[in-house]
Amino acid sequence: MGETENKHTNIAVLIERLSRIMRASEHEAGLNPVQWQALRYLERCNQFSNSPTALRLYLVTTKGTVSQTVKTLEQKGLLTKQPRPGQGRSVMLFLTKKAKDLLRVDPWYRLAKQAHDLDNATGEALSAGLSELLKAEISSGDLKTFGVCNTCQYFNNKPPEDFTTDEKHWCGLLKTGLNTDESRRICAEHENARQA
Ligand code: SF4
Repeated sequence: MGETENKHTNIAVLIERLSRIMRASEHEAGLNPVQWQALRYLERCNQFSNSPTALRLYLVTTKGTVSQTVKTLEQKGLLTKQPRPGQGRSVMLFLTKKAKDLLRVDPWYRLAKQAHDLDNATGEALSAGLSELLKAEISSGDLKTFGVCNTCQYFNNKPPEDFTTDEKHWCGLLKTGLNTDESRRICAEHENARQA
């Protein structure tokens, strides 16, 4: 194996090893990795993406796994379900205060703080490199991007003049206003912005 190939294999090994260590520490709080991922997803997603279907697509898992995960999180007092207005049997999932408190002791939150302490150049290079790898995997698996709203091709910084909304931004797909908080959340309908 050449030197370049060795370096690149090492990146995959580091990601695998780091993920394994993080996954092992997740069990200490009495939740399994999928349950933690569901809580993190619901903390970051927007109001259009807090459904069991979007959660399944984000987790790249089965309907049965999501349904069991939601049921267990409800039983643990970490999730509540509410009907989605005007959409038949569709439901919205919400984190409880207990879940939000638990997320403050999430092992990955600790890792995020460590990443924040990296020097700027290292942090930016790491973020850019991991984003590229994730993008490639999403593309080869034909998966949904679940990117941040303000990077979506449908995101408009200002609402069109012929629509009335109190919000600062606009979604051209769902034809609705978006506030600043929504613009920073991840979305099941996200499409990467087209290259100019
Ligand atoms: S602009 Fe894109 S990411 Fe934002 S709400 Fe609309 S579809 Fe979702």
